[in-house]
Amino acid sequence: MSSIKAPRGVRDILPEESWKWAHVFDVTRQVARDFGYREVHLPIFEYTELFSRGVGETTDVVEKEMYTFTDRGGRSITLRPELSASMVRSYLEHGMSRQQQPVKLWSAGPMFRYERPQKGRYRQFWQLDFEAIGSQDPYVDVEVIDLSLEIFRRLGLKGLEVKINSVGCPVCRPLYRDVLRDFLKPNLEKLCPSCRDRYDRNPLRIIDCKNPECKAVTENAPRTIDYLCEECSEHFVGVESGLRVLGADFSVDNRLVRGLDYYTKTAYEILSGDLGAQNAVCGGGRYDNLAESIGGKHTPGVGFAAGVERIVLSMEQQGSDFGLQPKTDVYIASAGEEARERALKILHELRNLCISSDMDYQDRSLKAQFKAANNMGAEYVCVIGEDELKSGMVTLKNMNSGDQQTLTLEEGLDILKRAELSRKSR
Ligand code: AMP
Repeated sequence: MSSIKAPRGVRDILPEESWKWAHVFDVTRQVARDFGYREVHLPIFEYTELFSRGVGETTDVVEKEMYTFTDRGGRSITLRPELSASMVRSYLEHGMSRQQQPVKLWSAGPMFRYERPQKGRYRQFWQLDFEAIGSQDPYVDVEVIDLSLEIFRRLGLKGLEVKINSVGCPVCRPLYRDVLRDFLKPNLEKLCPSCRDRYDRNPLRIIDCKNPECKAVTENAPRTIDYLCEECSEHFVGVESGLRVLGADFSVDNRLVRGLDYYTKTAYEILSGDLGAQNAVCGGGRYDNLAESIGGKHTPGVGFAAGVERIVLSMEQQGSDFGLQPKTDVYIASAGEEARERALKILHELRNLCISSDMDYQDRSLKAQFKAANNMGAEYVCVIGEDELKSGMVTLKNMNSGDQQTLTLEEGLDILKRAELSRKSR
């Protein structure tokens, strides 16, 4: 019988990689604090309706990509494909409209989409998600874009491209839709079958189709920003001028659309040149009608999600700094049962002092224990052999310099504490 493997499209994040992820989360947590966003942990599954109504029936995500099943109580459940809908659900469910607005929340965790797996595209992937709910000020859009850029700046990611657009609102979008349909009509047969299907239901989506023939047809398509109502137009000007105040480098891209009524005004994306086909590291925008679409009262909101796998991939490609890889600093080597007992006690003390330390659990020879310490990258080995047992002392070897001294336990601990302090201040 062959051994069971993980399903297609999912990955194990092993220790060789997970420490890099921890760095991304550490930086994100810091940025969240600096921008006033508070962390929430939301459920991984929700009622299917939340996404069909909140993300939209005619999106690829809802039509083709959701992991949906009926639970033992006969309810339709879906593994979350994204976080905005859950965030807004949570905001409404917990009456957060009574708090000071906007309510600024963030979360990180796995999302699930049945997509064709390839480099940078998985069926379970992690997102960093930030949402500011309850304000329609364009400066909140600016803040959200700035926040995503700040995370990437602190992570040292270079060569990013910021694209923004406005997709209007239910007031101005119908007019744009008509203009777009008129523009597309003569070339309808040249579009892919999905786009022909979208022509009536949701023509905006045709503009962001990746199919080369569709792209050629929409090359000179009318731009959403030329058909905005006064409110959307003013909002877009506000976002652009806010970004200019910050000196942000961005361009306006008409292909950036979210073709659903809940998505309004700002849409943006951040692309990395190092990722090949799946080059978006972050995507976001405004969703002023989402709360209503899931049964709440009208509540404006704006946010973004960034893909952790793609961030780490880009950082690896660029040779970015992930900080210090965690390792064991002190290894206690001992020979004989009585010495092992003493090693156990010292180990406990070191860990009480927050000094990362370890000992042998494989009944290895002293020589093999030194080798193990070396493999772990330990800075010190604390030896307890026969002599040390008799004298009540310990021998401390600095693995970098090779220096070795026999000391009382207190003296030894003192050196290890000082070494730990200097490591932490590095
Ligand atoms: P979206 O929710 O589709 O706007 O995606 C936001 C971000 O999540 C993207 O910019 C990607 O970085 C990441 N992402 C989306 N789908 C996947 C996937 N299947 N695998 C890995 N990352 C993804």
